[in-house]
Amino acid sequence: MAKKDIDWANLGFGYMSTDYRFVANYKDGKWDEGKITTDDKVVLNECAGVLQYSQSCFEGLKAYTTEDGKIVCFRPDLNAKRMHDSAVRLEMPPLPEGMFERAVDEVVKANIDWVPPYGSGATLYIRPYMFGSNAVIGVKPADEYQFRILVTPVGPYFKGGAKPVRLKVSDFDRAAPHGTGHIKAGLNYAMSLHAIVTAHKEGYDENLYLDPATRTYIEETGGANLIFVDKNGDLVIPKSDSILPSITRRSLTTVGEKYLGCKVTERPVKFEEIKDFQECGLCGTAAVISPVGSINDHGKEFVFPAGMEKMGPVTQKLYDTLTGIQNGHIEGPEGWVHVIA
Ligand SMILES: *Cc1c(COP(=O)(O)O)cnc(C)c1O
Repeated sequence: MAKKDIDWANLGFGYMSTDYRFVANYKDGKWDEGKITTDDKVVLNECAGVLQYSQSCFEGLKAYTTEDGKIVCFRPDLNAKRMHDSAVRLEMPPLPEGMFERAVDEVVKANIDWVPPYGSGATLYIRPYMFGSNAVIGVKPADEYQFRILVTPVGPYFKGGAKPVRLKVSDFDRAAPHGTGHIKAGLNYAMSLHAIVTAHKEGYDENLYLDPATRTYIEETGGANLIFVDKNGDLVIPKSDSILPSITRRSLTTVGEKYLGCKVTERPVKFEEIKDFQECGLCGTAAVISPVGSINDHGKEFVFPAGMEKMGPVTQKLYDTLTGIQNGHIEGPEGWVHVIA
C-alpha cells in the first residue's frame, strides 16, 4: 500500500471516487452493522422516499495528517450528534450510539492511501449521509433507509492566501422560522441553489440571509455561519433558532474565549449593526474561516475596516489558533482531535 499518486496541493473541491465507502441499511425497524464496500453505485427503487420527498440529511468533516504522521479528524462526536438531531427532525431513524464514529474510523482507515500528506494543505473530505430508500408515494416517512459515508480528497481551500469574500444580502430566504434551518438537510441546499447561482451571476461570492420574518436580523450564508469582531476585539455571534449550529463556529467561540481572551456574546444581531463591526468571517469545515471583505445591501456597499486584501487581525488569530490545534501544534481541549490511525 502506498499513497495515491495525486498532485495534492493542486486538487480542487470536487468528487473523486476512492477505493472504499461505508454502507449500512435500516430495515424491519433496525440498522444492520454496516460494512465497507468498493461499490460506488446506489441502486434505488424509482419511487424511493429520497427521490420523491427529499428525505435526506448529511454531514461534512475532514481527515488529515498531522506533522507527527497521525491521521486524525476534528470533533466527530459533534457531527454524530448533529446527524442524530437532523434524523429525528426528518422522521428518520437515528444511528445507534457510537456507530457514526466507528463508521468514520473504518472508512478513513480503508482509504488511508487517499489521506493527503502533512503540509500539502489538502484533506480527505468525509461525507456521511442518510436517505429514505424504499418506495413512498403517499406522503409519509420511508420505512427503509440507507446510511453511507463517502470520502474524497480535496485541495487546500485557500490557494495563495485567504482573499476576503463579497457577500450580498439575499432577497431569498434560507430557512423559515420553526423550519429546518437548524439541521443539515439536503432540502435546505436544494432551495439555496437558485439564490447562489443568482448571486454568482451578479459577481458575489455568497448570499447573506436575513431572518425571513422581519428581514432585520442576520442569519447566515448558504453553508457557513458568521462571526463578527467588534471595536474592542470581542466576538459577536448571531443567534437564531434557524441557524445551523456550525462545529467550526462553536470551536472558534471557545478558541476566542479560552485562548485569545476575547469576550464572546451570542445574541440576535441586527443587520444595521454591521457598521459597528471591524471584522467578519464565515465559518465552516472547508475553510475554517473565510474573511468577509464587504456586504452589499441592494447597491449599498459596506466594506469592513479590515479591507479586501487580507484577513483582519482577530480573524487571523482565530484561524491560526484553531488550525494550530487541528494540526497538533497547539494543545486543544480534551477530545477535539480524534486519532484514527
Ligand atoms: C454545514 C453547515 C455549516 C458549517 O458547519 P461546520 O460544522 O462548521 O462545517 C454552516 N451553515 C450551514 C447551513 C451548513 O449546512
